[in-house]
Amino acid sequence: MNKRDICSYDYEELKEEMARIGEPPFRSRQIYEWLHVKLADDFQDMTNLSKKLREKLDGEYEIARVQMTERQISKTDPTEKFLFELWDGNMIESVLMKYPYGNSVCISSQAGCRMGCRFCASTIGGLNRNLTPSEMLRQIYQIQRLTGERVSNVVVMGTGEPLDNYDNFVRFIRMVSDEHGLHISQRSITASTCGIVPNIHRLASEGLQITLALSLHGATQEKRRQLMPVADKYHLEEVLEACDAYFRKTGRRVTFEYSLVAGVNDQPEDIRELTAILKERNCHMNLIPVNPVKERNYKKPNSKNALVFKNKLEKNGINVTIRRERGSDIDGACGQLRRRYAAANVRRNR
Ligand code: SF4
Repeated sequence: MNKRDICSYDYEELKEEMARIGEPPFRSRQIYEWLHVKLADDFQDMTNLSKKLREKLDGEYEIARVQMTERQISKTDPTEKFLFELWDGNMIESVLMKYPYGNSVCISSQAGCRMGCRFCASTIGGLNRNLTPSEMLRQIYQIQRLTGERVSNVVVMGTGEPLDNYDNFVRFIRMVSDEHGLHISQRSITASTCGIVPNIHRLASEGLQITLALSLHGATQEKRRQLMPVADKYHLEEVLEACDAYFRKTGRRVTFEYSLVAGVNDQPEDIRELTAILKERNCHMNLIPVNPVKERNYKKPNSKNALVFKNKLEKNGINVTIRRERGSDIDGACGQLRRRYAAANVRRNR
């Protein structure tokens, strides 16, 4: 992006920016509303601004390009998947899931990911770059524009590790929940992390009210290391302590995410070990039968075994649910649509 990224300025910063170019404060209110409430895609749509000001804005600033290149609508669930192209050709994906309580959008926080979780398609090509706050916001804005649906919940669980893009991620949270913008309640936002300990502690001190979801996936340090290279850097004990600190400081109960992989982490000893680490914690656990990824060898347990696993944990006093699979007919696993697009491009360019 050659010009300034206008959608990444928060309300106060936009005021300062407009003062810098000689515009009165009411103009910044109008422009902020166009960008973050009316979800304008182009300065020329801002019809209550003079033509001269629209041209001035166009000359100095850019509205981050997040352009839809593919939209898949599930036949089995009220779920849609979107592939977006960014200004530099990077591709990202986002998902809209409709629930009786409202619409939820799952966004990406990075183009690619460097965390290397073994069951994940998003990390196969590594990290290309961090997304800016505007690129995170505009995934939601574009979905609202394209579908006409109001989004009330946000999950930051698409491609990328949000705590590896910390400053942009926190700015995104403040902006998406700001009363001058979409004003989505922080309590309706969940962000998942693979366990970057120092940044969990930082996040706990930000004064935010979002839910933290910790990707656990293994109940012992050894099991976690098999599935998640990040465990080499941060020991399970430190990760759990950081989650406890998050709960103490924010009062928000942490969710533990557990991808169930057949024959790897769905055994009787896994139930024992999970019970040992979670029983005394005020938390919730989500079991996610792993989505098979073409490039990986992992398989999901059949639904009967997953249910037995869940029931045993419940009997041991763990608050647990199985996350129902959504949109499995439309490149279900995180990162698969983007991977398929990248592979098709390679073939095309040969
Ligand atoms: S699961 Fe999340 S953190 Fe792990 S590699 Fe995939 S995108 Fe990155």
